[in-house]
Amino acid sequence: MVQLRGFELGCLCPLKHFDRNDVTRLMKYDALIVGAGYAGAVAARRLAEEAGKKVLVLERRPHVAGNAYDCLDGAGILIHQYGPHVFHTNDKRVYDYLSRFTEWRPYEHTVVADLPDGNGGRMNFPVPFNLDSMEIAFGPEKGKELGDKLIAAYGAEKKVTILELRQNPDPEIAAIADYVYEHVFVHYTMKQWGQKPEEIDPNTTARVPVFLSRDPRYFQDAYQAMPADGYTPMFEKMLDHPNITVELGVDALRRLELADGVIKLDGEVFDGPVIYTGQADELFGFQFGPLPYRTLDFRYETLDRDYFQSHGTVNYTVDEDFTRITEFKRLSGQEKPGVTTIMKEYSRAYTGADGEIPYYAIINPDNNALYAKYKAEADKYPNLRLLGRLAEYKYYNMDAIAARALDLTDEML
Ligand code: FAD
Ligand code: UDP
Repeated sequence: MVQLRGFELGCLCPLKHFDRNDVTRLMKYDALIVGAGYAGAVAARRLAEEAGKKVLVLERRPHVAGNAYDCLDGAGILIHQYGPHVFHTNDKRVYDYLSRFTEWRPYEHTVVADLPDGNGGRMNFPVPFNLDSMEIAFGPEKGKELGDKLIAAYGAEKKVTILELRQNPDPEIAAIADYVYEHVFVHYTMKQWGQKPEEIDPNTTARVPVFLSRDPRYFQDAYQAMPADGYTPMFEKMLDHPNITVELGVDALRRLELADGVIKLDGEVFDGPVIYTGQADELFGFQFGPLPYRTLDFRYETLDRDYFQSHGTVNYTVDEDFTRITEFKRLSGQEKPGVTTIMKEYSRAYTGADGEIPYYAIINPDNNALYAKYKAEADKYPNLRLLGRLAEYKYYNMDAIAARALDLTDEML
């Protein structure tokens, strides 16, 4: 078995590099974008192509694609370096826009829970918890009866959040809610957030409702697919435009100065649009205190076998220290007999230490209020826009960020 850690995996993108010493060239940029993830790349392409602006993209990492970055590992398996990314959307505009830069491979994500069965063995059932999960958990007859009861209460094919289900006063429904809470939500949520489901933002657990259906899919969106050659080539294509220059390995904050409503780049006033997709607190020197985040540690294992598990992702909803295991070949459809790479995710509080990545904003009223102070600070700069999961301190999926970037650039165009 080969053990790999995310940051040791290389596969740098051969993109254009800006000559840092040639400061005079800076003057010709009309727009500056910090970050080459979805927010930055979509915005850069639109401004370059549709507004004819000369765009400079500064990216701190040695590659494009932000957290959607994928690359081949030492065993030749296409892996996602910053956590498993499955594309899904109902937004045709986003799907069509991205389709300009990639072919797609249809892929519908399915997830099962893996947990102790109470008799010394283990059991699996679909997540979101659905009518089939109910029959596995309670046995075929009782499970069917309980499923019918839920359908009578909420309607067939309906999605009910665990917090909603727990409010139901009917004792039998309350017993189902307790079961699902205990076997799907409470331990997983404690691992992921260090808090119970009722203590975190209700929209978070609502992402994975109880589903009164036999549909085993994790998402029901109209468009579900993976970029045929991976995410990174899609971003490379998006950023490959004569009006776009990408500088990798550059921390924009070392080049930018923000004071009194004026932005300077390399000491010169920059009055074109600046789209910043990094952390809002970091942009302003953490002056109101750091925004809280959760970070993740990823443990990769490459195994000498065709496949490790039956589904793209298996959630360990009751025991184990990690939350889930993803097997990349199941996501990518890559055909590579005799070898497979899996990844375990361990969540913990983000401390801001070197190398840590702030993956998840911790949405709650206090943190939102703290974020609002940074947003108000940003609003003092007329040419600055905060865009993206970090910059807006939100729990956005990829498609939502792409949509945000399309909307913002619509306004600017
Ligand atoms: P990012 O991808 O974080 O890009 C921001 C970029 O800015 C980064 O590359 C960063 O290096 C750069 N940057 C920051 N500060 C600076 C600076 N000072 N100078 C230069 N560059 C800087 N979404 C889905 O739709 N499906 C999924 O299955 C899915 N799975 C996920 C799994 C995990 C574990 C996580 C954490 C997220 C997942 N997401 C998923 C969400 C998805 O990652 C985000 O929606 C998307 O990456 C947001 O894009 P972004 O451009 O806002 O941010
Ligand atoms: N969740 C859970 N058990 C599961 C799956 C999800 O408790 O088996 C909860 C947990 O709080 C998690 C949230 O639902 O953080 C959202 O899950 P999702 O799979 O959307 O998280 P992501 O893929 O964004 O990490």
